[in-house]
Amino acid sequence: MPALIVGNWKMNGLGEDIAEVAAMAGSSAAKGRSGIWIAPPFTLIDRAVIVSAGAVKIGGQDCHGNAKGAHTGCVSAPMLADLGAGFVIVGHSERRRDNGETDADVRAKAMAGRAAELEVILCIGETRGQRDSGQTEAVLSSQLAGSLPDDAEGLIIAYEPVWAIGTGLTPTLGDVETAHAHIRSQIVARFGPAGHGVRILYGGSVTPANAGDLLRVADVGGVLVGGASLTAQSLLAIAAAAP
Ligand code: PEP
Repeated sequence: MPALIVGNWKMNGLGEDIAEVAAMAGSSAAKGRSGIWIAPPFTLIDRAVIVSAGAVKIGGQDCHGNAKGAHTGCVSAPMLADLGAGFVIVGHSERRRDNGETDADVRAKAMAGRAAELEVILCIGETRGQRDSGQTEAVLSSQLAGSLPDDAEGLIIAYEPVWAIGTGLTPTLGDVETAHAHIRSQIVARFGPAGHGVRILYGGSVTPANAGDLLRVADVGGVLVGGASLTAQSLLAIAAAAP
């Protein structure tokens, strides 16, 4: 399975930055073995869809758990789909931290995303304290139990240790392999054989320098990239590192 490289721009990007998406879309990496997906801020989704011309899949960084209603300032999954988005990220640790999102909220968002026929990237991961106290696998199991949608179709899991996001720190390759194996076992236990088809991404301080090693770890189906996804040069270097 070719590696999937997903960029999460977070709260970064103005109109002038759409040129980066255009450059990504124009690269052979976007058309070649590595798929490139970008989640720009909501304000750039429609422009990103236009300049990417299908070569880069564009998605949202979040969606509401309801399709519509009295939720000022929120964006629903059908609204993302209406703009041409093809996927949505749910459960990112920054949303869990900044907005108090629970596993039940994340599950509702995942279900809403699937109902709108978006592919869903569901993020899970442990804090530093949880890892240091040996709770990593229990935390991952608990997050999955509380947040997985009803079926495996269109689902991608992103393993993102909270302490590795934006810090320059990464787990050892062995720890990444152990975490992904645990996630796989949980997904297969939940969904049966269909669980084998769910891609598992690694996320947390991925750079062009470490992407090749991370993408060679067993059952790492791609990477979710924050800071290093903001320029085409950096993201394409990560894509080029894919085995
Ligand atoms: C992220 O936000 O999902 C992320 C992995 O960020 P960074 O690559 O900057 O650590």
